[in-house]
Amino acid sequence: MASIMKFTSFALKNLFSKPVTKNYPAEEREYPARARGSLQCKIEDCIFCGMCQRKCPSGAITVDRKARQWSIDRMGCVQCENCVNHCPKSCLKMDVHYSEPDYNKVVTTLEGPPVAPKPELTPEKIAELKAAAAAKKAAAAKAKE
Ligand code: SF4
Ligand code: SF4
Repeated sequence: MASIMKFTSFALKNLFSKPVTKNYPAEEREYPARARGSLQCKIEDCIFCGMCQRKCPSGAITVDRKARQWSIDRMGCVQCENCVNHCPKSCLKMDVHYSEPDYNKVVTTLEGPPVAPKPELTPEKIAELKAAAAAKKAAAAKAKE
């Protein structure tokens, strides 16, 4: 009898209260500030060191240093944040939003900006660099006097 009373009061309470579920996707969810959603990479700052790949426990990240490419298998990521904590350039962060659901395996590949070619070292350029170094040395010696 006591359990029927308990159930009835519970049912009545729920009947007149607002639903606890959200009307997703019409109603957007509010995420807590420290939620671990999808991993984002600021590719302009990446030096392709591969640390995130080595520290990823699920092997979701692939770094191709030669091709200057950084990839993530979104469905392989377990949102542990280990890569974020080990990136020496702080270019990884967890976005609070989750990745969009998909039927297919989603691999996101980002390409780094092209590296400016190194200036060619001609004999004239070497002489110019040597002269600049000598001038700097002389200036330093003069400042010491
Ligand atoms: S650890 Fe950071 S800098 Fe190194 S490859 Fe990964 S994202 Fe790039
Ligand atoms: S958050 Fe964890 S699982 Fe996801 S890519 Fe980074 S290290 Fe791998």
